[in-house]
Amino acid sequence: MIGLTFDGTILTAATLSDGGEIFASAEQIAPDTDYRAWLLAVCAVIEQIRTPQNAGDALGVALPAIIEDDVVTYSAFSLLANTSIRRDLQSALGMPVSVHNIGEALATQACRTGAATDAQLAVAMWIGNSCHGGLALAGQPVTGAHGATANWPHLQLPAPVPHELDGRVCWCGRSGCLESFLSTAALEGDYQRVTGEWRAAADITTASANSDIVADSVIQVFEDRLGRATATIISLFDPDVIVLGGTFLNLPRLCERMPRKWPGYVQVDRSKTRLVGSEGGINAVTAGAAMLAADRVMAAGS
Ligand SMILES: [Zn+2]
Repeated sequence: MIGLTFDGTILTAATLSDGGEIFASAEQIAPDTDYRAWLLAVCAVIEQIRTPQNAGDALGVALPAIIEDDVVTYSAFSLLANTSIRRDLQSALGMPVSVHNIGEALATQACRTGAATDAQLAVAMWIGNSCHGGLALAGQPVTGAHGATANWPHLQLPAPVPHELDGRVCWCGRSGCLESFLSTAALEGDYQRVTGEWRAAADITTASANSDIVADSVIQVFEDRLGRATATIISLFDPDVIVLGGTFLNLPRLCERMPRKWPGYVQVDRSKTRLVGSEGGINAVTAGAAMLAADRVMAAGS
């Protein structure tokens, strides 16, 4: 199986065993404006991991986008807008290609080999350069009527305090979206508003864990907002598991602290819902995309 993830800046490709374990991977910076250059970069990174043994495999691509009928309909990354990436990559690479939302890929990996293998209903939350949601029922991803199932990042931040929504304009054209509070850029922006200095999101998380009082105060605000977001998902879906993945998150700390916030935001007892971290980072998304591509091949052959 072969998977690839584009997170907005980096292309990460990997080949996987049938059991879902990654045994070869490659990555490179992606062009950020030119679609043709982006396609060529994808081809280059895939060629690094193609071998005679996997030449017949399909490629699953996880994108920061809502995808309907194989066409990107919404994305924060303008080079992807209204593109037929599946068609174009199949032509360029000469191999079967399927395209998926990052949240769908994370939910799939979590249900097949990850943190939610025993879940009847699982909701995935990806928090990175952009944010994404996915939903899986009995191990199968559910994409919805428009490819936008569990699109939590563009719900408005619940229970805002006075002025909390001010100035939070989202790329989607609305304001107050959860993505404008919980993404990499959002955390970095909050830190800069407090200190006047820019600092990378991963550094803020690390500093918080190392008793940096200012960084920790910014992280605590982030956590309260994530608590409200996860409580809203529980109220809507009542899932067995919420799978949390991302690039700068302190997952053990979040999985310990978030459930304590839920009773204040949900109507009835939902203590059976578990919050689990996806420890694989971007590799978990890439693996999920590869699994979805293998599903498509199997479905086409049956
Ligand atoms: Zn939005």
